[in-house]
Amino acid sequence: MLPLYVFTFPHGIIRSMIVKAPLMEFTSHNADQTRRLGMKLGGALQRGDVICLQGDLGAGKTTLVQGMAQGWGSADAVSSPTFILVNVYRRADGGQLFHMDAYRLDSTSEAEELDLDSMLDQGALIIEWPERMQAIVPAERLWVQFEHLGAEERGMKFQSHGTRSESLLELLRGGI
Ligand code: ADP
Ligand code: MG
Repeated sequence: MLPLYVFTFPHGIIRSMIVKAPLMEFTSHNADQTRRLGMKLGGALQRGDVICLQGDLGAGKTTLVQGMAQGWGSADAVSSPTFILVNVYRRADGGQLFHMDAYRLDSTSEAEELDLDSMLDQGALIIEWPERMQAIVPAERLWVQFEHLGAEERGMKFQSHGTRSESLLELLRGGI
């Protein structure tokens, strides 16, 4: 269903326009469902894509990444790169997928030493705790906000920023 945005003009004329919603909400009922959603998203990832995963510990960010790496085509084991900051997953064709965890970043200057541009030249980049390096996260990204709703229930809000992430959102709207 397309949402209706209403714009009010100064002279009082109300016009309505139908535009693509930049937001999609999804409720996952177990870890497998989160992985499956990740697989769908991962299968569509391209070099230069940025996916930001924001949410508390245990919210399911790394679980989503497990599915993404699998759907993208890597058999490498996925874990939170909490101590080494960036994991690189590989695929048979030489493709690379970067998985960053900014949880332990202490400062923006530390973040600035990360060469995101050279990573993005080589592959897609997934960032856990992106809010800790907000100053250097590219403006064009798909931003996912996780919410812990219950023992196995997790809410995810996907928000697109830019045309590329809009098409990723469109794909997710098709279901898993
Ligand atoms: P984060 O990376 O956000 O800290 P993890 O993905 O590492 O979180 O951990 C999530 C934990 O919650 C895992 O133990 C996972 O099995 C469990 N879990 C239970 N239900 C879900 C769900 N619906 N989606 C994702 N993880 C879930
Ligand atoms: Mg994690």
